[in-house]
Amino acid sequence: MYLKKVELHGFKSFANKIEMSFEKGVTAVVGPNGSGKSNISDAIRWVLGEQSVKSLRGSKMEDVIFSGTSNRKALGMAEVSLTLDNSSQMLPIDYEEVTITRRMYRSGESEYYLNKSNCRLKDIRELLMDTGIGKDGYSIIGQGKIDEILSSKSEDRRQLFEEAVGIVKYKHRKQEATKKINATKDNLLRVTDIIHELQ
Ligand code: ATP
Repeated sequence: MYLKKVELHGFKSFANKIEMSFEKGVTAVVGPNGSGKSNISDAIRWVLGEQSVKSLRGSKMEDVIFSGTSNRKALGMAEVSLTLDNSSQMLPIDYEEVTITRRMYRSGESEYYLNKSNCRLKDIRELLMDTGIGKDGYSIIGQGKIDEILSSKSEDRRQLFEEAVGIVKYKHRKQEATKKINATKDNLLRVTDIIHELQ
């Protein structure tokens, strides 16, 4: 599986719709200071569900939308799509290509799509679990990330290894199942109380 394509429209400095295609192997993005190189990696983390404004180098989420220049009006919406080659079927979905899209309006409304079908961020997170591709996944190593990994608490480092060995989805499913069991226990307790009251 590899990153095949990134499309940006209205994201930070990318007012016009642009498409970047990647081949297998190494790709380097070069350009002068301030030309938007880091905005591309911000876009990749954003479409994968990044919610931290600080890590996107802004002060509010709206800052990801093109804010205009002296000769161009600000836009009302930012959209990023990321296409992964899934011919190896590493992602448990029956498609050779998987496109994840996030769209955000100035009103703050955010939408996510998987292969053009509206979905929840939760669906994207679950699909990418144990692949290392999520917004915190080890496939995205930003500036300072190595230092952070080396100096982080052992429990935080453990999370990285758990993702690499592929047990995150099982832990997640266990948590969900435990939540359901607890909710069912509460319901049973309530039913028992009602039965006692009626007797
Ligand atoms: P460097 O090499 O210095 O790290 P870079 O190529 O990584 O630079 P970025 O940090 O990606 O550059 O881009 C910074 C540019 O993006 C700035 O010119 C900034 O004005 C512009 N920019 C950021 N957010 C927006 C926005 N919402 N609307 C318009 N332009 C934006």
